[in-house]
Amino acid sequence: MTQDPFAKTVSLLQKAPKTVALTGAGVSTESGIPDFRGKNGLWSRYDPIEYGTLGAFKTNPEKVWRMLAVLLEVVAAEPNNGHKALAALERQGLLSGIITQNIDSLHQKAGSKNVVEFHGSLETFSCLACGENYNLAFVKKNSLPPHCLSCAAILKPDIVFYDERIPGPVLARTGDLLDSVDLLLVAGTSCQVQPAAGIPFAVHKSGGKIIEINREPVLNHIAEVSLAGNFSTVMERLIGLLAQ
Ligand code: ZN
Repeated sequence: MTQDPFAKTVSLLQKAPKTVALTGAGVSTESGIPDFRGKNGLWSRYDPIEYGTLGAFKTNPEKVWRMLAVLLEVVAAEPNNGHKALAALERQGLLSGIITQNIDSLHQKAGSKNVVEFHGSLETFSCLACGENYNLAFVKKNSLPPHCLSCAAILKPDIVFYDERIPGPVLARTGDLLDSVDLLLVAGTSCQVQPAAGIPFAVHKSGGKIIEINREPVLNHIAEVSLAGNFSTVMERLIGLLAQ
């Protein structure tokens, strides 16, 4: 007899000593943030090579800030019930932490504490010239592009551009979180962008189990369970079953 996939997921969540979530754009689409890589996404309007690289930023920061200004508006959203459900799992001791590829900080807004922002975030900004750091509030109360108060250079958000490596401390935190992980909950990511895309396969190879939540599952070959559907709908149902 085949077990109901939701019942199986609940049982896996309850039994796993250490569960970690890996999230991507699909968990934020229901908050109104379109997938940047999708048909109407940011990268269909702004070519990622021209606007999404550190090289482009260093050559012409004013031009890259035309994209960043749009990005800042796009990510000014509220967490959805899926984000809230992951925060609830952490509070219940069923989730050790989240590795997110999103730069929208919605997991933290929903109440999640242990969040590794794999591609950085728009909450902080740095001056590449003098190393001064600024927060989003500073950027919002000044005209764009924001300039460093110390040296007047244009500030860069602390997001990882396409031609940048994932910062060492972020990789270290990711490694710690994935150390001896028993269960990886992969949600809203089509696992296309490396190196994050390799995480489910690395976990699977080292004996961890995979649960996938995607509108169109892509990890069927390695996942114990693939739940096809909207992130928040699936998470609400799981939280309901866990409460029974
Ligand atoms: Zn500066």
